[in-house]
Amino acid sequence: MTKSGTINDLQLPEHVRPSSYTLQLKVDVEKQIYDGSVLIKIFIYEDCDFIVLNSSNLEVQGARLGNKPISWSVDREFLRFDSKFTKNELVELSIEFAGKFNDHIAGLYQSSYTIEEENEEKTRYVAATHFEPIDCRTVFPCFDQPDMRAEFEIILIVKSELTALSNMEVEKEIALENGFKQVVFKRSPPMPTYLVGLLIGQFDYVESKLSRIPIRVWSDPGKINKALYALELAEAALEFYEKQFKINYPLPKLDFVAIPDFPKLGMENFGLIFFKEETILVDRDTTSTNNKYEVAATIFHEVSHQWFGNLVTLKFWDSLWLKEGFADWMSWYAIDSLYPEWKPFQNYLVYDLQNSLTADALSTTHSVEMPIASLEDIKQGYDSISYAKGCSLIVMVAKWLGVDIFMEGVVKYLSTFSWKATTASDLWSCLYDVSGIDVGSAMEVWIKQAGFPKVTVEELDDNKIKISQRRFISNPTVTEYDDYLFPIFVNIRTTKEPSYQILLKSKEEIFELELEDDFFKVNSDQVGFYRTAYSEERWTKLGLAGVQGKLSVEDRIGLLADCAKLAESGYISTICFFELLKQWSCEKDAYVWDEAINDLFDIQDVFIFDNGNIFEGINQFMRNLIGNHIQASLEISQKDSYELNNFKKTIFSAGYSNGDPLVIKYCREKFASFTHDGNTVNADQRGVIFKCVAKYGGQEEYERLMEIYEEADDDDIADDALVSLGRFPKPDILQNFLQFVLDSLNEQDVLFALSALKNHSTGITTLWRFLRNDWESIAEKLGYGSETHIKVVNACLLRLATRDQKDEIESFFADKGEVFEKTVRSALERIDLKVQWVERDGSKLREWFKTNLHYSDGIVSKVEGLSIDK
Ligand SMILES: [Zn+2]
Repeated sequence: MTKSGTINDLQLPEHVRPSSYTLQLKVDVEKQIYDGSVLIKIFIYEDCDFIVLNSSNLEVQGARLGNKPISWSVDREFLRFDSKFTKNELVELSIEFAGKFNDHIAGLYQSSYTIEEENEEKTRYVAATHFEPIDCRTVFPCFDQPDMRAEFEIILIVKSELTALSNMEVEKEIALENGFKQVVFKRSPPMPTYLVGLLIGQFDYVESKLSRIPIRVWSDPGKINKALYALELAEAALEFYEKQFKINYPLPKLDFVAIPDFPKLGMENFGLIFFKEETILVDRDTTSTNNKYEVAATIFHEVSHQWFGNLVTLKFWDSLWLKEGFADWMSWYAIDSLYPEWKPFQNYLVYDLQNSLTADALSTTHSVEMPIASLEDIKQGYDSISYAKGCSLIVMVAKWLGVDIFMEGVVKYLSTFSWKATTASDLWSCLYDVSGIDVGSAMEVWIKQAGFPKVTVEELDDNKIKISQRRFISNPTVTEYDDYLFPIFVNIRTTKEPSYQILLKSKEEIFELELEDDFFKVNSDQVGFYRTAYSEERWTKLGLAGVQGKLSVEDRIGLLADCAKLAESGYISTICFFELLKQWSCEKDAYVWDEAINDLFDIQDVFIFDNGNIFEGINQFMRNLIGNHIQASLEISQKDSYELNNFKKTIFSAGYSNGDPLVIKYCREKFASFTHDGNTVNADQRGVIFKCVAKYGGQEEYERLMEIYEEADDDDIADDALVSLGRFPKPDILQNFLQFVLDSLNEQDVLFALSALKNHSTGITTLWRFLRNDWESIAEKLGYGSETHIKVVNACLLRLATRDQKDEIESFFADKGEVFEKTVRSALERIDLKVQWVERDGSKLREWFKTNLHYSDGIVSKVEGLSIDK
């Protein structure tokens, strides 16, 4: 049969496949141009009359098939060669081309850093690549698809003073004329195009002395002393995964590179992992413990991809969740084994799980296995659904089978499919082989169906409960998803061990529980991806059970989160949340506090423009709740465990937000001693101290913080100062700051700098005014409709909450174009939900605060001795 015809936009025809590339690029890093050639050996699987491959924005200058010139045609982003090809033939297609660097941080692009040389600041330019998912085709013609592996022989021609890195070790360097050299890398094992990495520039490195193969961390030479922490983690990660996966890391070296500009936290290029500089370069002594955890999580994530993603690759991008969800889970599993005090799975419950449940409750969500209709869909897949929901499905399966059996299945999957491409069903079948349990049929529903269920528990007589499910949608008025059904693992915790384990496959079912007392909690340890709703009385009883030690940390986190989100969506009253939490002032766990305080802030946000004192009521509630711990939170010690340190940090930060006078006094003193006497501040407290000084400060404090930002040698200190500058309560100070952001910051820092304004009412309205008044300058700075522009618009609209603001948004964006449509639509939907929430629960909450906090209409007990408007 002869293959011919039109080309599908998304996937290349499968009648031919590449077996190797010899790629030569001559790169001018400063002028941002390059030219090169690629020789691709292509195996013909079926008789056919054309070969097609991906090529985007390249100037093709010539092509040969074997020794003979061949003509080509350009069809959208494809190169097509028409000729007769015979089955089982191996043909050699060579193409000459030239290209320009990408203007954005994608494909092949320029980055830079400055160094001081002979008392002068000099800029050093760097060329770097980022190909995932589909930007390799913008650098050289190729079969740009994850299932099309081939061996790579890469040759770079660069200025002789520069270092060139790629996936493999250098085989030889040959000096050329005019100050250039040719760097020839060893041939790679077969790998997909998106994992090719190139880096050219002046870099320094530190190298491991302990590892089985060379491990190096590279950076701008001025920052190399901050690379040691990453190197230590890299060694630990490689050793841990080799043991766990029972397969040695397959390449002869592993390089980690900190790049000044990089679009992601990290990217797992085979043997050459790239990171955004600040993700892995830290000064162990001055960085916060949170930051150290983030460095570890990112490094363990990327290293795990060297097996899960690189050794075994996805068939196509619709399965992105599989590699990302697994890498997240694997990094936490590794950290939990090596550094258990960090409690990564509890961190996951508070942050990743909640973010993904929130995103997945919107009607605009998508299934974990993504429907892909366009190239744009492939790029849009990198969201909390693919990563965090993907990961929570892995959490569910690992718990269901038991971690040891799950890992046995993973080892089988990695060895069975080494150097091949897979889908999720390949993993399910390996898990079945080792466990005898058919996880696949349940999991296929979870990956193909968007959303998740709300599980409602109704208490009947004689210890019977009725459990029913319905899709959880954050907008309670939406009913169109009523026929959704999920297979749910309903684990029920009681005082009797072990817990009940039920697989609910229907809309509703009645269960009889054997209870020793009046206690039970559905979704024990919060393993299942759903929210559970109880009766009002049951929430109060569960609150009591939390105090009595009947609930695990995971249960307490889950209970709070479920309760707050069910209230937000109108499934239960917001009072249930306060009834549940009000008894927990003795809580000792940092992550439970993180969850509680995040939830309180979320509720507070909704009432930020409501003049009925609910905002201040929540502050008072918080002060009552954590008041006993405030003094302890100020007394930090080097000897504190990671957990205690976390606990103190959370309480301290909440104390600053709710205006605790002790915290404010402490912050002002520490700030004075830092600025006047040059004393250092604790890295874990520094951010809060700066923000607190700003929140209760004026012009003088503004100038001091600006000075710190501009003069700090340490990036962490500069960042803490920058993000505090948006916390000032006076509109004219904020206006000055916004002007500074526009005039002086570079593109990638704008969003970060603006984020602090979203956290207070004056900031929110100032930000909104700024967006409208400076619309043109903002667009010019960020590029109209660019990814950063859209993110900035989103940040400016995120916390708006009133009907008037909704009208203003609608009229302002009426003529701003389709590119903002999705962002604006979500903003309007959010406001609707907030308005409904205020109308539904506002007066009930006011009444509840009156009874429980003893405040009269007007002002909630004012904080003594504190003048807020300085
Ligand atoms: Zn990843």
